Formats: sequence, structure tokens, C-alpha cells
Amino acid sequence: MECPKCGRKCFEGVVKAGQAGTLFNEAANLSWTPEYEKKKIIKKDALNLEKSGVGYYCQFCEKVYATFELNKIQSVFQ
Ligand SMILES: [Zn+2]
Repeated sequence: MECPKCGRKCFEGVVKAGQAGTLFNEAANLSWTPEYEKKKIIKKDALNLEKSGVGYYCQFCEKVYATFELNKIQSVFQ
């Protein structure tokens, strides 16, 4: 993938949530929340994500861009 910021080639890798010892901790989840629900307590449009995804690292911008699959079928923005 090319970096969305500078357009140079990124290194492909893996992005994971959590750390050693928390692998089976149910509380260690990963989610995406839309901007308009960022400050709300109840986030009805949030999406639950798999705890690992594909990440692309740009060494020039020193950023990682990642893609995560949804952890089950979820309907968006009902
Ligand atoms: Zn870049």
C-alpha cells in the first residue's frame, strides 16, 4: 500500500491489540466509533473489530495505517 499522506510505499505487517497475559481477557476488545459518537456514553453505531489486522508502516511519516475486519456481521448505521 502507498502512504495516504506522502504516497511512498509502506511496509506491510500485523497490528494487534493487547499484550502478553491479556489474550483471553474479554475486556480487551477493539472497536471503531464514528466521530459523532466519540463523546457519547452509549455508542450505538460503534463496530467491534477483530483484535488483529493488517498494518502498513510508512517510515517517512512514521505512521502505521491499519485495516481490521469486523469480528462478526454487523449492520452499520441502522
Ligand atoms: Zn508517508
